[in-house]
Amino acid sequence: MEWKGRRRSKNVEDRRGQRVGGLRGLGGLRGRRGSAVGGLLLSLFTRGSGKTKLLLIGAAVVAMFVFKISPLSIMSFVSGGPGPQRVAQEAPGPNDEMRAFLETIKADNEDVWAKIFQQFGKEYRPAKMVIYSDKTVMPGGVADSRMGPFYMPSNETVYIDPKFFRELTERFGAPGDFAQAYVIAHEIGHHVQNLLGYTDKVHGQHGRVSKKEYNRLSVRLELQADFLAGVFAHHADAQFNFLEEGDIDEAMNCAHAIGDDTLQRESGGRVMPDSFTHGTSEQRSRWFMKGYQGGDLREGDTFSMPYERL
Ligand SMILES: [Zn+2]
Repeated sequence: MEWKGRRRSKNVEDRRGQRVGGLRGLGGLRGRRGSAVGGLLLSLFTRGSGKTKLLLIGAAVVAMFVFKISPLSIMSFVSGGPGPQRVAQEAPGPNDEMRAFLETIKADNEDVWAKIFQQFGKEYRPAKMVIYSDKTVMPGGVADSRMGPFYMPSNETVYIDPKFFRELTERFGAPGDFAQAYVIAHEIGHHVQNLLGYTDKVHGQHGRVSKKEYNRLSVRLELQADFLAGVFAHHADAQFNFLEEGDIDEAMNCAHAIGDDTLQRESGGRVMPDSFTHGTSEQRSRWFMKGYQGGDLREGDTFSMPYERL
């Protein structure tokens, strides 16, 4: 994709290289309430028993027990964390390529969504984005790169450790700059849902419906975020003419690679549809494509149709 030379967003904070103060790593967190489950999960993580079991441990569980963050308070990109790898630091700085890329894609999202909201007589409020390395503080806890990129509705902020992109390439087999742009657009999609009230609607059902039913609501929300990422791609390309050959394939390949069924299969486990929170590979790539082809916000109602037809 073409991304250089366009406006860069001012709503991005680069915290890479900063340490999380006063926590002395996860040990401090663990000790506070002495969560045995958290400790167990933590040791699983730190010993790094490979991607197998780790992918099965949902990001929500990890967030709740290890990082003391309510599973309702974040929306992750992928079920399960990207894993225990700690790879070498990117070089942070105002002019480094990764920061320029993220700020540009963020600005593209702001421009596209401001225009779409305007067409519907609404005003778009841009999300914030925090780029960090390894860990950073967030309301109610600590963001950890092992959670993967996520959006937090309460402070309207996307958190991302760019090392996730290396995971995307090396581990999920989804390389390419437009695969990365899709990740950002999906998280901004969660912000759009937040502004439109979908997030509250889903979270309000927590505890009122069965686990299975709640997972299904989560799938509806996640597929809609994939759809919104596609809508973004449609309008951004019309506005900036930034797509190159193979870009849509990169996004489709990425959406496919992180489908719940594919992740479960690759982790060596059984495919358990009732445990899906993000949708299958086929669903995720199809909803992205639907958004991209039509570019029409009104075609993205994943909440009204029967679950089986999603
Ligand atoms: Zn998501």
